[in-house]
Amino acid sequence: MTLRFEHETLGQRVRFASGSAREAVAAEVELLGATRAMVIASRSETGQAERITAGLPVALVHDDVVMHVPVPVAERARAAAAEHDVDLLISVGGGSTTGLAKAVALTTGLPIVAVPTTYAGSEATNVWGLTEGAKKTTGVDARVLPRAIVYDASLMLTLPVGLSVASGLNALAHCVDSMWAPRTDPIDAALAGEGIRTLAAGLPRVVDDPSGLEGREEALYGAYLAAVAFASAGSGLHHKICHVLGGRYDLPHAPTHAVVLPHVLALNAPAAPEADERIARAFGTETGLEGLEALRARLDAPRALRDLGFEEDQIPDAVEAILPSVPESNPARVTPESLERLLRGAWEGADPR
Ligand code: NAD
Repeated sequence: MTLRFEHETLGQRVRFASGSAREAVAAEVELLGATRAMVIASRSETGQAERITAGLPVALVHDDVVMHVPVPVAERARAAAAEHDVDLLISVGGGSTTGLAKAVALTTGLPIVAVPTTYAGSEATNVWGLTEGAKKTTGVDARVLPRAIVYDASLMLTLPVGLSVASGLNALAHCVDSMWAPRTDPIDAALAGEGIRTLAAGLPRVVDDPSGLEGREEALYGAYLAAVAFASAGSGLHHKICHVLGGRYDLPHAPTHAVVLPHVLALNAPAAPEADERIARAFGTETGLEGLEALRARLDAPRALRDLGFEEDQIPDAVEAILPSVPESNPARVTPESLERLLRGAWEGADPR
């Protein structure tokens, strides 16, 4: 076997600091020498954000956060950063909040300290996303990679079980898609395998004991591994599909991933036996799909796109919008017919097997 590949490791400090976000963020502010921080947190997240940043040099708290970062929302945040002459962005919240901090960093070069409160994983990637009308644009830029991440599992205790499950499966989707995404390599596959193993162990514990810290920590660690794999491997078929569904029909990000994933795995697994074997090994099951479906049943995961606001008559439009972005390297050949079948199955919540 010849081992030839290129792998880029993104540089950022990661602190796992359950119960100590405040101290960990303070240490980062000190290291960066910041004197005027802009705290970004959605309205429901500002209480937590203020507790975490109490006593730090905060110039303003910005709570105008909207999912998928609409361009006018990004513009307002950039204007606020300029008006207050800030030198650091501290984001406390889910992927939408991290996304807004990234939109500001993209044009200003300001450093970000990210304190995630979901399993979305945006904090570990150099990918930004902006939405204009119904079109979501993403790009890669070194400026948007947070300088530091502070993971504090105690912040996850308020994340409702349903959202935790959907968000955890979003992280799992990063792992599964990383197995065949365009730039995947053996390091990504190893990280993704360990991410699956950790998420599959942690998420049932979150469901059984939502106020317990251990399951939350385990899931958060898995979500980080997942995001690192995804950042390196790039978007595979699953992410291309969800990207269109989220941006074009305004579907909720994490539940959409949770519904679509088994259908993509069912399509790709027969054409990617090595990846499937690795996924199955991580779940401890015979096939990857068997493991994923058992986990989804255990978590009572979202099942159908029709429950998320996607209409049956939107399927043909979605097929047309997704097809041009299907990665050439996708293991299974994707035709308009197979994509339509996949979307119909996801729409009605059919058994992917
Ligand atoms: P989100 O940030 O929109 O959060 C979902 C909801 O959960 C919100 O109402 C939020 O206020 C609430 N919430 C968050 N943390 C909470 C907590 N601890 N307790 C209680 N409520 C809490 O959703 P998300 O799934 O985290 O992120 C989705 C966005 O992130 C999408 O726009 C997606 O495109 C983006 N994303 C980007 C990347 C990337 O690499 N750029 C990766 C993953 C996701």
